[in-house]
Amino acid sequence: MDIEVRASELDDKKADMLILDVRGEIAYRHGHLPGAVLQSGEISVVEMNDLLQEYGKRKVLFYCNVGEKSMELAGEMRNAGIEAYSLKGGFRAWLLEAPELLSAEEAERYSRQILLPEIGKSGQEKLKNAKVLVIGAGALGSAALTYLALAGVGTIGIADGDRLELSNMHRQILYKTDSIGRNKALLAKKRLEVMNPDVRIIMHDYFVTPDNIMECIQDYDFIVDGTDRIETKFLINDACVLLRKAFCHAGILRFEGQVMTWTRPEHACYRCVFEDVPEEYIPNCSEAGIVGAVAGVIGSVQALEAIKYITGTGELLVGKIFTFDALTMKSRIVPVSEKNKACKVCGTQPSIVDVRQAEELYRLRGCGNE
Ligand SMILES: [Zn+2]
Repeated sequence: MDIEVRASELDDKKADMLILDVRGEIAYRHGHLPGAVLQSGEISVVEMNDLLQEYGKRKVLFYCNVGEKSMELAGEMRNAGIEAYSLKGGFRAWLLEAPELLSAEEAERYSRQILLPEIGKSGQEKLKNAKVLVIGAGALGSAALTYLALAGVGTIGIADGDRLELSNMHRQILYKTDSIGRNKALLAKKRLEVMNPDVRIIMHDYFVTPDNIMECIQDYDFIVDGTDRIETKFLINDACVLLRKAFCHAGILRFEGQVMTWTRPEHACYRCVFEDVPEEYIPNCSEAGIVGAVAGVIGSVQALEAIKYITGTGELLVGKIFTFDALTMKSRIVPVSEKNKACKVCGTQPSIVDVRQAEELYRLRGCGNE
C-alpha cells in the first residue's frame, strides 16, 4: 500500500491502525482525528513497537499539519520494518476532505440516540472523541462498560488485574463461564470489541496502585470507579482530584447502591464526605453479598454520568450522592453542597499532594476485588 493515505480513505483503512498526532499538545487539544493518540517529541523504533503492542495494532498512521513531518516519520519507521503511513495533506486536508465525523454506518447505529435533541449529532461526535477509563471490570464495570461501548464512546480503557471466578458469574454480565481463570480486562476488551467494532478498547491488565494510577488515568477525559475496595476508592478519588480528572464513584452492597460524581475542585470530593478508610472493617461484595441486578442499575447510572458529562447534557451528581435501595425501591439524592475544609486532598491545607507518598492510606485490608 502507498505510504500516503488520503483523508477520504481513512474510514476503510483505519481499523487496524494506530493513529498518531505529531502536531504537539496545543494543536491536539484544539481538535484531532477521532481515536488519535498524541505523540509529542521524538519516537524511537523501540518505543513505536511498544506503542503498537500497547494498543494492539499492527500499523501506524502519522499525521501532522500538512503531511511533511508525518511523511518523514513514516519513512523512518518503514526503514525499520514497521508498516507506517502518513496522512496526505495532514490535519488540514482531513478537515477539508472528511465531510462528516460520523460514517453512515455510525449514524445508523446510533440513530435512536442521535434522535434525542439533548444528544444529537454533535453529542454523538463528542462521544466518539471521548476517552473514558473504567477501573474494575467486575459487576459495576460490566454494566458501565457495556453501555459506554454501545453508546459509541470512541476510546474506552479497562483497568483490572483480576481473573474471572465462578462466583463472579451471577453479576458480571460481560463474561462467559468458559472464560474462568482469565484476566478480566482482556476478556472485557474482546467482548466489547464484538459488541461495537467502532470503539477502541485499551487494556490495562493490572490493579491500580499509588505507583501506577496517575499514569493510568492521565490520558482519559472521565474515570468510572467500578472497584469494590474502599481503599481503592479513596485512591481513585485522590488521584482524580490531584489530576483534576472528572470521575464517578459508586458503591454497592447487598441490595443497596450509591453514586457520586466529581468534576471540579469547587465540589466536595469523596474524601470530603467519607474522610478516611474507617477503622472498623468494611466488608465488600464477596464477603457481604450482592444482588447482580443492583450492580446493573448502579453501573448503568455511572455510564449515564459519563455520557452526560461528555455531551454536556442534564445535571450531574456533583455535590450530591444518589442512593438506591432495591428492597424498597426508594432512591434519594442527598446534597453535599459544602466542601470539607479539613479534607486531606482538597481542603484548605491538604496533606495528600502525591498519592505515592500517601501509600499507607490505601493499603488493602481483607481480600477480593469487585
Ligand atoms: Zn475533598
